[in-house]
Amino acid sequence: MNEADSRHLASQLETMGYTPCPLPEEADLVVLNTCVVRQQAENRIYGRLGSLKTIKHERPDMTIGLMGCLVGVKEAPALRKRFPYVDVFMPPSDSGPLIDYLQANDQVETLQLEEQRDRTLRDAIQDSKNLLPIEQRGKAVTAFVPIVLGCSHACTFCIIPYRRGLERSRSTDEIVAEVKALVGQGIREVTLLGQIVDRFGLDLPEPATLASLLREINAIAGLERIRFLTSHPNWMTDELLDAVAELDKVCPHLEVPVQAGNDIVLENMRRGYTVDKYYELIDRIRARIPHAAIHTDIIVGFPGESEAQFKDTYNLLETVQFDKVHISKYSVRPKTVAARRMPDDVSEKEKSRRRDLLDQLQRSSLTGKNQQLVGKTVSVLVESEQKGRWRGRTPHNKLVFFEDDSDLIGRIVDVQIDHAGPWSLLGKMIA
Ligand code: SF4
Repeated sequence: MNEADSRHLASQLETMGYTPCPLPEEADLVVLNTCVVRQQAENRIYGRLGSLKTIKHERPDMTIGLMGCLVGVKEAPALRKRFPYVDVFMPPSDSGPLIDYLQANDQVETLQLEEQRDRTLRDAIQDSKNLLPIEQRGKAVTAFVPIVLGCSHACTFCIIPYRRGLERSRSTDEIVAEVKALVGQGIREVTLLGQIVDRFGLDLPEPATLASLLREINAIAGLERIRFLTSHPNWMTDELLDAVAELDKVCPHLEVPVQAGNDIVLENMRRGYTVDKYYELIDRIRARIPHAAIHTDIIVGFPGESEAQFKDTYNLLETVQFDKVHISKYSVRPKTVAARRMPDDVSEKEKSRRRDLLDQLQRSSLTGKNQQLVGKTVSVLVESEQKGRWRGRTPHNKLVFFEDDSDLIGRIVDVQIDHAGPWSLLGKMIA
């Protein structure tokens, strides 16, 4: 989400005449787009704000903007007191306050858009967000496109609903227009984003579902691949799974966080499903999309998580054999139900031990899964060059590296796999 918000903001700033600057010490404007999903991420922002304070002291004309989940929908007044050297505060996905500030302070240097009499300057700048920023033009092959903003679910550990506000879907027309504009600039793959992406459309006046949106986007000429994330187990309908199975551009790659493999822990997290329900979902997915890559998220060391409850999570991972598991240690987030009512009683050392155990498990299970691809040919969308090798992904989201002298950015090529590790595959391109 932050990457998509940053892309939108960069395009708008470029429309206002700004150009990228590699060093904050030399920039006229610095915007920090922030994430507070874990304390560690939040601490990093405070470190960056400290360095910016020193720069601003030496160059008071520099403008500093703070954006994203640290600001949230309500935190700006408190942050203004704490960081008086920050000029503008923007909630997630809302660049409006910065555009207004720069206009009010005569910092819109050269407007690169044609004047359109029936629109205000602010609207014209807002609309330019579908342009790729200069640094990405001709290079970017994939893009994130937010389709649902905010979340109304309120899992007990999660700060996102407090910071990103209530769930609201963007309109189908707006999303389709953004994807078309991106494809026109060379984007071949889009990932549709939402905190619960499968709830897309439920709040819109016109009837729409994620399945119906996928059908519209699948019809866009020039687009090759579509992904979406993150799903919630309760909202992954058969209609959606059928659409994934049927639509040729939709990748067989699903991100369905389970978070824990024990019913009591799930209830304490207020996830809204049981382990059995989750297994049913996995069966439904595999019945419709037999080789689907299923990714999940796990939190270890949630308040009260006993060794036996952790083992249930371990067993679930062993049984399901996910294609990727994002493992995080529980981190207390202010104002959440867990922070207010549940003591953080699993030690850091124990959380690390549990994370490492799951990590070892996933390493060995992925090594085994990926070994099965050795000798096989996979289809790879080439995204970038890295240390003299091409880097791309398969529809199942496997990372693949290979060498070739031609310029392959944005091409879909066949690669025969020679070597497989847990996190990536190595191979050679087939002519
Ligand atoms: S569904 Fe996701 S974003 Fe929403 S509260 Fe739960 S973890 Fe947070």
